[in-house]
Amino acid sequence: MQAVYIEGHGGPEVVAVGELPVREPGPGQVRVKIFAAALNHLDLWVRRGIPGIELSMPHVLGADGAGVIDALGDGVESFTIGDPVYLQPGLFCGRCEFCQQGEESLCVQYGLLGEHVPGTFGEFAIVPAVNAYLKPDSLAWETAAAFPLAYETAWRLLMSAGGLKPEESVLIHGIGGGVAGAALQIAKHVGAYVYVTSSSQAKLDRATELGADVVLDYTQQDIPTAIRQHTSKRGVDLVIDNVGEATWRDSIESVRRGGRIATCGATTGNNAVTPINRVYWKQISIHGSTMANRAEFEAISELVIGGDIQPIIDRTFPLEDAPVALERLASGAQFGKIVLTTGATA
Ligand SMILES: [Zn+2]
Repeated sequence: MQAVYIEGHGGPEVVAVGELPVREPGPGQVRVKIFAAALNHLDLWVRRGIPGIELSMPHVLGADGAGVIDALGDGVESFTIGDPVYLQPGLFCGRCEFCQQGEESLCVQYGLLGEHVPGTFGEFAIVPAVNAYLKPDSLAWETAAAFPLAYETAWRLLMSAGGLKPEESVLIHGIGGGVAGAALQIAKHVGAYVYVTSSSQAKLDRATELGADVVLDYTQQDIPTAIRQHTSKRGVDLVIDNVGEATWRDSIESVRRGGRIATCGATTGNNAVTPINRVYWKQISIHGSTMANRAEFEAISELVIGGDIQPIIDRTFPLEDAPVALERLASGAQFGKIVLTTGATA
């Protein structure tokens, strides 16, 4: 099959597009003929190499995908060949205490499609049957592939970790990325008052179209100062920070006393400085969040399928142009999800 894979870790030069053997699904797994897949920052981390994760090479990238069931492993009765599906990228054991509690993203063996096992950037992918969800006809293939990772992450981040309530205010740094865009849409769906930041006027304009209440260019103004002015010195109830080193100080200074910061990533680096005196004096809570549990995934899926939230798609590339697509993601030029299509259709 045609696939996008790496043979070692490094920069753009390690990404190859070529033929790999089609594998057979094991017990409890399904093989999906991929129609569309979507990029995540995760693909860039995997390309570079994640400490502690040893991959067998060649390794197929990609966490998000949608397509049709192509083969069933032993014991799979929940699907028939040809069923249209989209994939939930979080892999869990289903047996540990956290899985038993319905908190799959806390699973002691938690992993991700494309990170710990071969991913979706190919003509076929193999996933546990519990990770496949029937796709209604009303949901476009590109959308079905684009939303799972970013939107489930943003949903848990805002609603469960962040505890966002309708009357509250939220600051989202770096609008444009998949999770930040999803967070904006979810926050507006909930009824919150939303501040977003970017260095790009085009991205700020797009955020306004999507309902952002206040847009702030961080190259033109100090964000905590702007937030203080807009909120009569109060600060926002919740800050969504998946930028990391570059924004962490602004997050601590922009949140109100007793407010919350929720983080699910650190695209500019992990080693931000946290002034502990600001944390206790302001009585700030910092919440880490990753991916989502199944109930949360199903909740956000329902909103996407129902049309309440329409995932933002930046651009679609053919599978063989994945290296170009990955560089677009690395450059931060995108607004929303970057999608790959294999050319296969129902
Ligand atoms: Zn588990």
